[in-house]
Amino acid sequence: MSEAVRDRLWIGNEWVDAASGERFEVTNPATEETLARVACGGEEDVDRAVQSASTALASKEWKRLSPHDRSRLLWRLGDLVEEHADELGELETRNNGKPYFESRAVDMPFVAESFRYFAGLADKIQGATIPVSGPFLNYTLREPVGVVGCIVPWNFPLSITSWKVAPALACGNTVVLKPAEQTPLTALRLGELAAEAGFPPGVLNVVSGFGKEAGSALVRHPKVALIAFTGSTETGKIVMREAAETVKKVSLELGGKSPNVIFEDADLGAAVRGASTGIFYGKGEVCAAGSRVLVQRSVYEEVLEAFTERSKKMAIGDPMDKKTRIGAIVSKAQLERVLRYVEIGRTEGARLVTGGEAKKVDGKGNFLEATIFADVEPDMQIAQEEIFGPVAAVIPFDDLEDGIEKANRTIYGLAAGLWTRDVGKAHRFASEIQAGTVWINTYNQYDAASPFGGYKQSGFGRDLGYEAALEKYTQTKSVWVALD
Ligand code: NAD
Repeated sequence: MSEAVRDRLWIGNEWVDAASGERFEVTNPATEETLARVACGGEEDVDRAVQSASTALASKEWKRLSPHDRSRLLWRLGDLVEEHADELGELETRNNGKPYFESRAVDMPFVAESFRYFAGLADKIQGATIPVSGPFLNYTLREPVGVVGCIVPWNFPLSITSWKVAPALACGNTVVLKPAEQTPLTALRLGELAAEAGFPPGVLNVVSGFGKEAGSALVRHPKVALIAFTGSTETGKIVMREAAETVKKVSLELGGKSPNVIFEDADLGAAVRGASTGIFYGKGEVCAAGSRVLVQRSVYEEVLEAFTERSKKMAIGDPMDKKTRIGAIVSKAQLERVLRYVEIGRTEGARLVTGGEAKKVDGKGNFLEATIFADVEPDMQIAQEEIFGPVAAVIPFDDLEDGIEKANRTIYGLAAGLWTRDVGKAHRFASEIQAGTVWINTYNQYDAASPFGGYKQSGFGRDLGYEAALEKYTQTKSVWVALD
């Protein structure tokens, strides 16, 4: 993608200028340099994109395209993502600050896999015949919901985009995508690749811009039938309220404060590695980050020491360097937010055992050391609020009951991890934990086939998995035919 087209919006398979002509700067958080000037989409642009998506929805080119052909297009887009994985991975890393190995070896393969997994769904969407009373034939049609507004965050820009765009298109919808203002570059590039794959004009539109303008305009637009949102719980509440005006379907994938629970009978080496990747992968800017590390009291000091040692060795540096494990925090504002929580932790009386300091690499960038607070009380602010950075709160617990109670003591319920060799304990915990995903003796596992989403204030609706996609991206029509 040339520099020139980054400053426009992708609507109807064309680069178009934002109505206002305004642009905003997108920076590389590792160097603090301007990476691109991006078009600032507003209400008028969102309307233009929605009209384009709406026209495409009714067009023969899309509506009459056979499900097999839709499947082929999605598969082709997966192939294109794979072919361009170096470029996309680098763009993601330069824009988000995450280590290149994460973007290139984890995120981009997942994006390609999501398109391929949902390519497999496109020609398997079917209704049912229903045995009703009387001389009637009753059957159901599973139809697209219409124009889908996808609003995504900055932490996994293209991954989360693919979790929504792929199933939405597989089910025959058309999409207006609003990437996060911090990280719009790979999403804009995806628009171009979708056209190259053969998707007709208007099927996938990308409007870069800010949440309060472009995001809100999408949520309020009467021709948008569904908002598939991933972001913070705070914004999710606004989206839900604004969507109510036009009775839109909404799915909300929101924040978390996930517990990663280590029992005394666990393989402690594996548990410590799991605690470390649980919170420090992706700089802790992961919705399901294991930000509360609960450790059984009998092994508390041993685990804390090993966890601390391991964390001190995590290499902070240039995200493009293969050795780097902790990249740059996505923005100055986010770094400041995380540092405020470090200060709150200190004031609340938690014990800072490592990290807590902002760093520069070669005199530049928004970096923060892997940070661990020990002896955290479950009701402290740093144990209750989503920090969204590389900060772990280590909390002791006594036994299974106490572990479950403390793990559940939060408004969130996105994910949970537990480490034990006792199979009964593992399943008891899995059934009693209030979370949409449970990882037993592992952490941060994802697959396009496995549903992901929250309990409680982590939201509702699921990304990934075919059942969740059908539930979210189709609607059911019941057709009655008189037989007499
Ligand atoms: P955010 O809520 O600030 O923004 C998310 C998106 O919403 C952005 O595109 C933003 O522009 C848009 N937005 C902001 N205000 C809006 C409004 N009034 N109307 C419509 N759209 C609006 O979140 P963020 O800071 O970009 O991302 C971090 C958050 O996302 C964290 O809370 C994290 O836990 C959550 N997250 C959740 C999941 C999940 O699957 N549950 C995955 C990743 C991130």
